[in-house]
Amino acid sequence: MTAMTQKSFHLVSLGCAKNTVDSESMAQLMLEGGYRSSLQANDADVLIVNTCGFIGPAKEESYQVLGELVAQKRTDQWLIAAGCLSQRYGKEVIDRVPGIDGLLGTRRWMDILKLVGQLDRRQSPEPLYHLPENAATVGRDEGEVLRIARQGASAYLKIADGCRRPCAFCAIPLIKGTLVSRPMESILAEARALQTAGIREIILIAQDSTDWAHELGQREGLATLLEAMVNEVTDVDWIRILYNFPGSVTDRQIEVMAKHNQLIPYLDMPLQHAHPATLKRMRRPANMDWVYRTLDKMRAAIPDLALRSTFIVGYPGETEDEFETLLNFIEEIRFDRLGVFTFSFEPGTTSEPLGDPVPQEVKDERKARLMELQQRISLENNQAQVGKTLDVLIEGHGEIEGSAEPVAVGRSYRDAPEIDGLVFVEGGAPIGEIVPVKITGAMPYDLSGEVETVRNVITLEGLSLAN
Ligand code: SF4
Repeated sequence: MTAMTQKSFHLVSLGCAKNTVDSESMAQLMLEGGYRSSLQANDADVLIVNTCGFIGPAKEESYQVLGELVAQKRTDQWLIAAGCLSQRYGKEVIDRVPGIDGLLGTRRWMDILKLVGQLDRRQSPEPLYHLPENAATVGRDEGEVLRIARQGASAYLKIADGCRRPCAFCAIPLIKGTLVSRPMESILAEARALQTAGIREIILIAQDSTDWAHELGQREGLATLLEAMVNEVTDVDWIRILYNFPGSVTDRQIEVMAKHNQLIPYLDMPLQHAHPATLKRMRRPANMDWVYRTLDKMRAAIPDLALRSTFIVGYPGETEDEFETLLNFIEEIRFDRLGVFTFSFEPGTTSEPLGDPVPQEVKDERKARLMELQQRISLENNQAQVGKTLDVLIEGHGEIEGSAEPVAVGRSYRDAPEIDGLVFVEGGAPIGEIVPVKITGAMPYDLSGEVETVRNVITLEGLSLAN
């Protein structure tokens, strides 16, 4: 490496928003260590890939990115594979992609500078490992590193890491270990910093947000945290909570969400299935009465609640009858947003003995049927928005086919970033602002409309105001 010039790193973040937060934390440490960030892999001294190892397609993508970087890597560059794939498969990752210089486990992201220093002093080409043998044993040693990932006027804030649930299909507890909650004071300090930076939306994330502070003995941890947040960050317009575990949304949480406008009326509750027998085989809460009761309670307490869920089709033993129960449930509940995954066989999970008996074509066909149903429901739900005025957080500029008009693109409270829909705003609007938009058009997943009036004009550092 060149001694006189400032060293640089190039970081590729794969997978979910929780991984993005770990990537941002590593980037922060590298910047504090004197490195600059480079958008070009060939310009950088250190290449970091924060991998995903959750399910088959995500693993393949991680291997592909690592392979591409190895193929173009110079001998004076270090390639580090961090994150879930490295934690889960260890040396196997290097066997499959020879040329990787170091592996960093999921809860060892804070070792990034140490690992780079060791690579700089390394006497042999042998790769170096920073992998806790058991992710569950790793405690809190995050120091002062921010646990946020900012995207325009929104920011993800990680409140906990790991998961203690027993879901049979899921590799996350194997990779991440059990739940470790971050202290309330650290979370609030970061929320205050985001407010000072002009952030309009804070999105709380964890593998299971409803489990926050459970291991610290708090039974109503999330509700307590939400109340503290609304008191601390009164200027943040929207606080969104992702990943609510079924059975763990309490009456107190519903009460707190109903009471504070800042806690936007959006519930993301991954249910995974609706047939009790499938849910039992998944080792998930199978009490569908609770689901119906809780959704009714939430819809009664929180007007205009936007509901999001995710489901798995083709789980081992899923019969046509079980699948149809799921279809009927989706027809009945009419979710606003829905994610559907086909079952991915993951060795080492407790579902491993069940194998992967549902043929891929059956999985794909069930997914297609479910998505077709949801597309109709989503379109009808969107059509019901026409004529309403929704606050929309403007995030960019785009175009509507066949129109030369300027168009701004944003999200309403009904849309979490990357996973939900968009609102196209005819006539344009300034990026980084929340503007009231009269909805005039509905598509299956997106809406369109025009700005009524502009209010709350705040210029965000680093964001340009168009107009
Ligand atoms: S709640 Fe279940 S599906 Fe979600 S991360 Fe934990 S074990 Fe996996």
